[in-house]
Amino acid sequence: QKVKRFFRKNLLLVFLICALICGIALGAGLRYVEPKFTARQVLYLGYPGELLMNMLKMLILPLIVSSLVSGMASLDARASGVMGLRAVVYYMTTTLLAVILGIILVVVIEPGKKGGTPDNTGSPKGKIDPVDTFLDLLRQAFPSNLIEACFRKPLTEQVLDEDAMKMRDEMMNTTMTTTLSTVAANLSNITAPELEDIYKPVVTQVEGMNVLGLVVFSIALGITIIKLGEKGKPLKDLFDSLNEATMKLIYVVIWYSPIGVMFLVAAKVVEMDDPEKTFQQLAYYFLTVMAGLTIHGFVSLPLVYFLFVRKNPFKFIYGVLQAIVTAIGTSSSSATLPVTLRCLEENNGVDPRVCKFVAPVGATINMDGTALYEAVAVIFIGQVRNLDLGIGNVITVSITATAAAIGAAGVPQAGLVTMVIVLTAVGFPTEDVTLILAIDWLLDRFRTAINVLGDAFGAGIVAHLSRKDLEKMDASDESLRKENG
Ligand code: ASP
Repeated sequence: QKVKRFFRKNLLLVFLICALICGIALGAGLRYVEPKFTARQVLYLGYPGELLMNMLKMLILPLIVSSLVSGMASLDARASGVMGLRAVVYYMTTTLLAVILGIILVVVIEPGKKGGTPDNTGSPKGKIDPVDTFLDLLRQAFPSNLIEACFRKPLTEQVLDEDAMKMRDEMMNTTMTTTLSTVAANLSNITAPELEDIYKPVVTQVEGMNVLGLVVFSIALGITIIKLGEKGKPLKDLFDSLNEATMKLIYVVIWYSPIGVMFLVAAKVVEMDDPEKTFQQLAYYFLTVMAGLTIHGFVSLPLVYFLFVRKNPFKFIYGVLQAIVTAIGTSSSSATLPVTLRCLEENNGVDPRVCKFVAPVGATINMDGTALYEAVAVIFIGQVRNLDLGIGNVITVSITATAAAIGAAGVPQAGLVTMVIVLTAVGFPTEDVTLILAIDWLLDRFRTAINVLGDAFGAGIVAHLSRKDLEKMDASDESLRKENG
């Protein structure tokens, strides 16, 4: 009876975990099929997954805009200010905590001095100033054209040198399309024009959204609607209603997600490089990042949560498990956002007004896993190349890794692209990202899971700290209503 009740309550979670396991098993089995899968066949195998990614990403724009505007507009000016401040302090401190943990681990374990050395030909380049990195972030935060921001994202045009720009463009074209990315490695039986057909739409449609710009605009609009009072009511109702409708749509997509996740994972397992060879060279690096992510996600963040909320953090993690599995399946915190929101509101009972604000902003700028990984990766590269990083450079790494994580979009392998910033900041050759490329898709899944977990804990903590403000707001709303009749 108990088992039955458990399964009924957690049906979707059970489906998702089964999907993950079945995907790995299916992919592993298909690797042995002769003749080997061609790139096109891998594409077909991953097709149900590609549809899932599209559906989730399709929801990002209406979801982010509607939940931020309606969330902000349902708070009063004071409550939104205080909540925003708490959220930003949480994002910053936990991201820095993650970076510091990563740096300590990579300096102690020294993965770059162990194992085989991956081949590479990079040579050191000129430096860019961390100041430019911040200027670039602000550039993203205030897009000059809102419509364009929905599909294009300005990226360090002014600050990167020519080589770095070329490198970035190449990476944008290959690695950003993760579901298809390493297909490029075995393209032998696809001709060039065909290849363009397959890649182009994915690259331009999906990956470029300047979410940071949209977030900033939506928050500003939400706050202005509060200030407008009665006049702003129609706009608030519009966004409330759009938000309700989007949440209903999400419900449908979420039930499709196990199928999508299974095929996404299966296709990835089929196309991945020979794991034995890759792991030999990168095992220590992989383990260092994984150790950092595990400690941050299951020790540091729960401790912070317990410190403020005084409730069992592992029960909280259990509540958002479905989002974590979706993050592992999709490698995208933005695509996981719909699931995160549902888990927070329904399973963990976090106040929707807080979730609507903290989770979308978190999915965009709060990336603890990415920041940790960027710091480890850059110092690892330094160790492999025997390039000395003094304490000054270590500080530069921690600052730029934080900025690069904030600037990274919540899409597959975005962190790898923004890492160019950290590499350039310490004068390392940007081509050196290729040293860690082989294993990045896998680490991406786990760092995305920690990014999502960090956002979820953030919503829980901010909601707890803001409960008195929210109660006060409810009480004054109530008395206003009574006065009016
Ligand atoms: N895939 C990550 C996310 O969506 C970003 C990254 O680290 O590449 O959160």
